[in-house]
Amino acid sequence: MADTELLQSHYSKSIHGSHILHFHNVLDAYGHLSFRHPTNPALFFMARSIAPALIATEADLIEYRVSDGEPTNPDSAQGYIERYIHSEIYRRFPHINAVVHSHAESVIPFTISGVPLKPCYHMAGFLNPEGVPVHDSARDVVAPTVPDLLVRNTHMGAALAKRFEDGNKVTLMRGHGYTVAAKSIELAVFYAIYTQKNAAIQTAAVGLIAAAGGSMQNSRLLNEDEARERTASVATTAKRAWDLWVVEVSNSTLYPKE
Ligand SMILES: [Zn+2]
Repeated sequence: MADTELLQSHYSKSIHGSHILHFHNVLDAYGHLSFRHPTNPALFFMARSIAPALIATEADLIEYRVSDGEPTNPDSAQGYIERYIHSEIYRRFPHINAVVHSHAESVIPFTISGVPLKPCYHMAGFLNPEGVPVHDSARDVVAPTVPDLLVRNTHMGAALAKRFEDGNKVTLMRGHGYTVAAKSIELAVFYAIYTQKNAAIQTAAVGLIAAAGGSMQNSRLLNEDEARERTASVATTAKRAWDLWVVEVSNSTLYPKE
């Protein structure tokens, strides 16, 4: 595929991805998806400051530098404040090509309760079986930046990016949401959707266990081997989900058509 065609297909995939994440309640008016330039790894793209469901064409996307999270064209439209989440993950991890940041409600309780989010079913084997790490900007961000729940600069972005060491794919953010890093747009969308579904399942399971007088300690969560095996096999079937999701959003009148 020629370079321009490849870039065009990434534009299109990212717009579908934003619509899909809205359709599945991962993004509302807030949150965002980005992708690394497919042939120039020093650049990445994300939408201008707009609700992700309303992104219509590549004209809504801004090209940013990985090095500092600033637009290559200083006259670009207003971008998202939290773009440094994305730039610092790309800067630290050359193999990461797509990032999703979400405030999905089913995940938030696991960012503030001390109850670790763990893989509860086979579709979420990519989650850390020891518990998804929780980034706390009040604790993990050190001077010169004043702690803030939003990731407003490269310093705060770098503190969050460290949480993706050792192949971790998802990091929770206290009182804020979560961020997903993946090697492709399709996988980032997949991980973001199934993190949110897993959180809803775990919350339901905790309620059932409590009603039965049991304890989470005795629940049968996925062990490390099961989680690893499922991560590998799910990655091979993610296209099936992607193809369905594209049809879903293409048939919805809410999302602008390219
Ligand atoms: Zn946010």
